[in-house]
Amino acid sequence: MNGDRSPIEMKHPDWLVRRYDSDPNVGRMETYLDGLALETVCRSAHCPNIAECYGRGVATFMILGARCTRRCRFCAVEKGAPGEPDSDEPKRVARAAQSLRLKHVVITSVTRDDLPDGGASHFVRTVECVRERCGGVTVEILIPDFKGSLSALQEVCAVQPDILNHNVETVESLYETIRPQAEYSRSLGVLEYASMIGLKVKSGLMLGLGETREEIIRTLTDLKRAGCSYLTLGQYLAPSKDHAPVARYVSPEEFGELGSIARELGIGEVMAGPLVRSSYKADMRYDALR
Ligand code: SF4
Repeated sequence: MNGDRSPIEMKHPDWLVRRYDSDPNVGRMETYLDGLALETVCRSAHCPNIAECYGRGVATFMILGARCTRRCRFCAVEKGAPGEPDSDEPKRVARAAQSLRLKHVVITSVTRDDLPDGGASHFVRTVECVRERCGGVTVEILIPDFKGSLSALQEVCAVQPDILNHNVETVESLYETIRPQAEYSRSLGVLEYASMIGLKVKSGLMLGLGETREEIIRTLTDLKRAGCSYLTLGQYLAPSKDHAPVARYVSPEEFGELGSIARELGIGEVMAGPLVRSSYKADMRYDALR
């Protein structure tokens, strides 16, 4: 029991504490990306793996601005009215991917409910620019739900990403409080459609937001039914006191067990652990199922 401390005040268990020797690559990476005015979800979402990933020269590009039109209660990305999409951004992402010699490029975005196509055409241009500039590269896109727009989804699927990722993030019962502008069935529909037309589909959820074990297993079953073949499970960490509090810390053993359940359900490539994030070691995991 945690006594009467609020969950946010709980001290992180040891398995979530990572210590890194200072790595000059991290600063170099930040300076380089800043120089190109590129956002990464690594930084915007306060990812706990940033030192590891930047240290090995890997980042997840976040396109379409730094501000998100939604108010998800788990997410550190700044909320508010975003600016116009930057038409030169796709080329700069491609340039960075080439300079960093990325073999597998992961591109995500803020949710742009303000744009008529939800940012789909900007995703497509970014993928095309990356492929044009970086021969032999594979591309994973982590997309929003485009408010359920089939035409926007068809547009991004038509570019044939090597992986189409859309995170359900949490179990259905928590959508109202955690992802108030999203819908569980809509998110499953995104995955279902992409899988139906033959794309490799990936999703992920955060644990520790208040979901029950039964709900987790039901969600894994739904994801399998929706055609998901790549899955990430990680511990939710509250970015601040204004975000949803951590309801509990899931042990590494329990992550291992839930990962096994997901594999038994037939999800081919599963990564489960406290610090696993949607794009964590995405390059290695893509190779695992090729
Ligand atoms: S896990 Fe993903 S978001 Fe986090 S630092 Fe690594 S590449 Fe960036």
